[in-house]
Amino acid sequence: MSAICDAVYTYLEMDWTSRRQFVKDGLCFVLSGLTFNLVTSCTRCGQRSGHGVAQTEEGAPVGEKKKPSYIELHKTGKLKEKGQDLWQIMESCRLCPRECGVNRLDNHRGFCRASSLLEISSFQPHFGEEDSLVGSGGSGTIFYTHCGLRCVFCINWQINQEGEGQPRSIKEMAQMMLDLQARGCHNINVVTPTHYSPHIVLALDIAAERGLNLPVVYNTCGWERLEILKKLEGVVDIYLPDFKYADGEMAAKYSSDALAYPEITKAALIEMNRQVGVARPADDGLMYRGLMIRHLVMPNRIGGTKQIVDWIAANLPRDTYFNIMSQYVPMHKASQYPKISRKITGSECREAVAWAKEAGLTNLDIQGCSLF
Ligand code: SF4
Repeated sequence: MSAICDAVYTYLEMDWTSRRQFVKDGLCFVLSGLTFNLVTSCTRCGQRSGHGVAQTEEGAPVGEKKKPSYIELHKTGKLKEKGQDLWQIMESCRLCPRECGVNRLDNHRGFCRASSLLEISSFQPHFGEEDSLVGSGGSGTIFYTHCGLRCVFCINWQINQEGEGQPRSIKEMAQMMLDLQARGCHNINVVTPTHYSPHIVLALDIAAERGLNLPVVYNTCGWERLEILKKLEGVVDIYLPDFKYADGEMAAKYSSDALAYPEITKAALIEMNRQVGVARPADDGLMYRGLMIRHLVMPNRIGGTKQIVDWIAANLPRDTYFNIMSQYVPMHKASQYPKISRKITGSECREAVAWAKEAGLTNLDIQGCSLF
């Protein structure tokens, strides 16, 4: 009963955008309970999701309950230094592969539409992510406004492309992180973080001083600059990137001319794996560290699933966590593009799973194929 009262009070204190996300997450939680976690909604793929049990290699070692590494960086003052270093990059912004070069510190906005002013859409415990991130208390998501990739099928397009959100200070973001921890979340899950990476690192520094000790989940489209990722070493505990396309032509067509997406993302995944290694849940079922790759299967083989799984098998450990998501729904402008204007079929889902298994990947999280 007290939990219900807490939820009502929390709801009454929220602005309208946060209320909408709060209701959505509440429904997701109820649905996940009703359907054994088969129909909830995840953050970055933006699609309806259901994160089942990963099929791990038999006898695979259990992950450790590691203390977040940013805590040590904070104690030595290096976390703040990293944040300040990233901040300066906004003077001629090259935080993401667009490399616009605009002076965000002088209030200009780049391709992503972000200036140096932090804008956040909502922050909530989220129950639609992978089981090992959700646990019993939820993943502590913070949804950032704007995005540098701008996919035509984005389900979060109001937030990422239409600018839905409110200006917030870095101190307010630090307080959000602490609030999520106080509400029982198991991690801080920064959704579409790249263009606000300086703000995130500086907020973490403030929050760490005030007792934050949750792992940081970097929930990204995968399209990350190597130079920026290297600066995030020791800050991020769990990388949660998409690997959307194997073919640059597809990336260019559906993600705003991002022709080099495959090469950039491959380099990013190798770097992420170097930093945090293979993701394995600890004996409490929660993830504390590692690389968790998501791949949304698209209609008509647009994503290039076979090439993606073959590349992962050849370039990363075979037990790299790989989430095959089958929940594609044509959102935003997708209906204007005939090849992606429908959901995927059962056979498209099953062939994706078969390719991943044939490639030898052993740590698969398979989403919803059985529902077709
Ligand atoms: S983060 Fe934004 S401003 Fe910076 S390079 Fe990318 S698109 Fe341009």
